[in-house]
Amino acid sequence: MTSHAAHKPSGGAHRRSVALFGGTFDPVHAGHITVAQAAQRRFHLDAIYFIPSARPPHKSQRELIPFVHRYTMVALACADHPGFVPSLAEAPTPGYASHVFYTIDTVRRFHREHPDDHLFFILGADQFLEIPTWKNYESLLDACDFIIASRPGFRLDALRLVIPPEKFGRSLAPDPHKIVLRKSEIHLLTTVASHVSSTEVRERLERKQSIHGLVPARVEEYILGQALYR
Ligand code: ATP
Repeated sequence: MTSHAAHKPSGGAHRRSVALFGGTFDPVHAGHITVAQAAQRRFHLDAIYFIPSARPPHKSQRELIPFVHRYTMVALACADHPGFVPSLAEAPTPGYASHVFYTIDTVRRFHREHPDDHLFFILGADQFLEIPTWKNYESLLDACDFIIASRPGFRLDALRLVIPPEKFGRSLAPDPHKIVLRKSEIHLLTTVASHVSSTEVRERLERKQSIHGLVPARVEEYILGQALYR
């Protein structure tokens, strides 16, 4: 919500910079890890919370594999990366199996629980282009800073088109990697160009093809051991 330069207030206490990385993670793959590593380096993130969603509103057409598997794979993928934290923030609640999770609610909850943190939300360009369909998206754009990862096939200059004109703020020095809004900033991670998708991983497994290198090694072992996506 504030500029990157404001991460460490002069008072001495270190202000944590944390990012939320939401998704279905069905399964988590090498593209997710590449994006998170690039974001961690560029924004000096103290923590990145990987948040598999029990029931996201946008991908409801397809049956997801059970949350417990998706969460376990995220936890395995995080194990080798200091600062990567598997999160249960959008875990299913017993008795509320059909509860749909909205990003705005998750972001507000993190703000309430960690009011002093500088909060970012990481997402791929494909997802950002869909943001006008998200619940309270105008409030969401005000609620935190964003890190948008480039994704093959998606033009980053199209991102501006989905932002309501009145949201734009003044930028003193125009920066091609940043969109300055009145209440937040949108950072473009242009160095990432991973072709991997969960769809590709699932399709390869259905066809009994190798997924070696497309997912972290521990995740590959888990998928094969549990015979997932067969
Ligand atoms: P699917 O193929 O099932 O649609 P996915 O590969 O897009 O899944 P998600 O779990 O939906 O994976 O992704 C979580 C977030 O990570 C989304 O914001 C998505 O845009 C982003 N993301 C996924 N893969 C990449 C990638 N290769 N490069 C950049 N961002 C990515």
